[in-house]
Amino acid sequence: MLTYADKMSIVRQHQNDAPVQTVPLAQALGVSVYHVPNWPDDLSGKIMKSEEHGGSSGYAIFVNQAHHKNRRRFTTAHEIAHYILHKDAIGDGITDDGLYRSRLSNWMEAQANQLAADILMPWNLLNNYIGMGITSVTKLASIFEVSPSAMSIRLGVPAQAEVSPQAEVKPLAAEF
Ligand SMILES: [Zn+2]
Repeated sequence: MLTYADKMSIVRQHQNDAPVQTVPLAQALGVSVYHVPNWPDDLSGKIMKSEEHGGSSGYAIFVNQAHHKNRRRFTTAHEIAHYILHKDAIGDGITDDGLYRSRLSNWMEAQANQLAADILMPWNLLNNYIGMGITSVTKLASIFEVSPSAMSIRLGVPAQAEVSPQAEVKPLAAEF
């Protein structure tokens, strides 16, 4: 069984290039990913134990196929985060609505959103691009295949803004 450190090490192995590939990351963690058609728009994703669909860990992630690719990537990263942080709380499954709310506490959901951002927008890669002079939030969002609003939150600047190349962008991903 993978420890927390093992899982975070697998995450880092998938953060050498942007965009971070979420499905191969999930698979490397032993979690299968499925895109589900015909879900209501206000349902983002779900993680559950599944004998039929689960990967080697026994868990599977289901993502709303109708959502934009960037949103599906965030959902996959968010469900991966639940697997890494909250596996013991998954029980019969965690279902996230359109705002990434579930039966888990708001605090746990905030944790999952934070780790999802750490997965998709690692500071080492962000700093590489910013250091190369790519400072537009929308351009960085497109390179990392995240929404401009997700990148804007990550960098702490408005979506239409530019980050200063000299800015001290946060040092390292937060650890949980
Ligand atoms: Zn969630």
